[in-house]
Amino acid sequence: MENFIKFLGTAGARVVVSKQLRASGGVWIKYGDTNFHLDPGPGALVKALSSRPRLSPSSLDALLLSHRHLDHSNDLNIMVEAMTEGATRERGAVFLPREALGEEPVLFSYLRDKLENLEILEEGGQYQWKDISFSTPLRHLHSAETYGFRFIFPQGDVSFITDSLFDEKLIEAYKDSKILVINTVRLHREVHPHILHLSIPDAQVLVENIKPRLAFLTHFGLTVLREKPWEIAEEMSQKTGIKVIAANDGMKIDLEEALED
Ligand SMILES: [Zn+2]
Repeated sequence: MENFIKFLGTAGARVVVSKQLRASGGVWIKYGDTNFHLDPGPGALVKALSSRPRLSPSSLDALLLSHRHLDHSNDLNIMVEAMTEGATRERGAVFLPREALGEEPVLFSYLRDKLENLEILEEGGQYQWKDISFSTPLRHLHSAETYGFRFIFPQGDVSFITDSLFDEKLIEAYKDSKILVINTVRLHREVHPHILHLSIPDAQVLVENIKPRLAFLTHFGLTVLREKPWEIAEEMSQKTGIKVIAANDGMKIDLEEALED
């Protein structure tokens, strides 16, 4: 499998992460000769190295951070150390929101000097590193500065709708994606406006309107886990007529197969 996406974790929200009811290692993306790691949460290093076949952090070309929250950024420093071979050589790139380098930066300064490229994400930004191009079409509604990612591959786009409160703008930002990955933390729509996360009904609206060929739900909170994400996904598939899959730790998506016409 040449080009793939692998879930090194599918945990979302504090309880699931702190108890490791699901792993929280983020997502590995390989396309061509380029390896990206998206949101290296707690356990990213261990999950990459214990993955079969092994994913070596020293082969990484870039780390991407959707936002600074711990479940997305905890292993950033150790992954940069690994990418730069113990901070001995200048190598690789990090893409992150400006806030992640603000007060209490999540990337140590001695590691910033070891990067070939440190780029600040912005709404509407377009980026390229080695064989992978992506955009950050929208700043999400979340309690930290947060962006989603739209990877632009010749065979079609793969979008990651990271942490966000539901917003109509998400539909426009990620429309025409062939594959959609949605961080679905909550079972129900929130009555508390301070919880800025997508729910299962929100995910369904996104799937119905964006109409990808394939959708994955991930980043599960406790309420979703209790209700069996695979059953929720099956029901959503039936309601929308679009194949929806609940991601598991270690699940791998073959991009050749998933994107082919
Ligand atoms: Zn968050």
